[in-house]
Amino acid sequence: MTKQVIYHLLAVALPICATPLSAFDYDTSNWFKGNTHTHSLWSDGNDFPEMIIDWYKSRDYDFLALTDHNVLQVGEKWMDLEAIKKRQRAIGRDAVSKCEARFGKDWIQWKTQGDKKGIILKTLDHCREQFEEPGKFYLLPAEEVSNGAKDKAPVHINALNIPKVIPAVKDGTASVAEVMERSFAMIAEVEKESGQPILAHLNHPNFQWAVTADDLAKVAIGGYFEIYNGHPGINHLGDDTRPGDERIWDIANTIRIAEMETTPLMGVATDDSHTYHGGDVSPGRGWVVVGADKLGGDAIVEAMREGKFYASSGIELGRIAFDKDSGLLTVAAKPEEGVEYTFEFIGTRKGYDASAADTGIGEVFLSSTGNSAAFQIPGDALYMRVTVTSSKRHPNPSYTDQKEQAWIQPVGWK
Ligand SMILES: [Zn+2]
Ligand SMILES: [Zn+2]
Repeated sequence: MTKQVIYHLLAVALPICATPLSAFDYDTSNWFKGNTHTHSLWSDGNDFPEMIIDWYKSRDYDFLALTDHNVLQVGEKWMDLEAIKKRQRAIGRDAVSKCEARFGKDWIQWKTQGDKKGIILKTLDHCREQFEEPGKFYLLPAEEVSNGAKDKAPVHINALNIPKVIPAVKDGTASVAEVMERSFAMIAEVEKESGQPILAHLNHPNFQWAVTADDLAKVAIGGYFEIYNGHPGINHLGDDTRPGDERIWDIANTIRIAEMETTPLMGVATDDSHTYHGGDVSPGRGWVVVGADKLGGDAIVEAMREGKFYASSGIELGRIAFDKDSGLLTVAAKPEEGVEYTFEFIGTRKGYDASAADTGIGEVFLSSTGNSAAFQIPGDALYMRVTVTSSKRHPNPSYTDQKEQAWIQPVGWK
């Protein structure tokens, strides 16, 4: 049995993502905003979980996933004070005094181990009690499953709404695609056992150039990836010889639909924030906006499964509408004084010429400026997606000349 066949069978057997919706007209202005990729002192972030959560909640995020590497914030986690200080890289005010200033002198739980002064970190349960408010703010139990393949290639997958820690696959003999396959399958297994829907997204494909468009295409079980990640070291734009994340999306979607006959990838935008005290402070760079029925883990995952969400690095959308019969796709941004939006309708035609620059993979069918744009998708398009780019510079860019953007999910595929 060829690998391709195995991948295809798995795609049929496991719940991965949406069926194509025939028609929808979403008012996205009341959807929930959340970041699904954040690190705290529980792994390699440099702030306390409660400080990070407070940052997001106080900036009108509706939900947040703390996604520490291979760990959930449960049980007693003691941290050496000196190790906490080291993480700050001597920039800005120190984490402890900031935390005491925010929550009071009695908040931090000190504990000396041997001759070392340290702190017991707050658990997710504690944080949920402190910060969650029905309909207003929700914390998703989540993890960055930090797998490793041949040559230590990082294969990081965020699992959202998990009932327990999902172990990472570390296999120095396995290819990236094999490790992806095994990790996604393990996550699906936990979902099946627990009955709790879990959303898994493949992170930063270009980090150490580990995951190619081909890997993303052929591992059909993985239906989601990061179209944007706010960490500055993830090669978002690619380089002279390797495609950036936008292009990766189109290559993978084209292979998935045309050759694999499976679903296209859905794109999420995230912060992947690690640093909070100066230097490259990354919270607030990327997020998703989700049309869930209510604010809760299952509802968020189910809405994302339906493709009822968009990714953003700054732009707020007001409407996304699609009518399969007429093929009309409409996207509107929230108007902002002095700001112009460019809407690019991007897809690939059946019978595409992979070597052609402008009519091949990821062809721009229409580029239109204004506060909204509509386009009738031609019958020979395999799928259509829209990238919206603002004339406004990103206030805290992760790469040079970054503009604020938004990405809607592919539509029009069969
Ligand atoms: Zn990662
Ligand atoms: Zn990360």
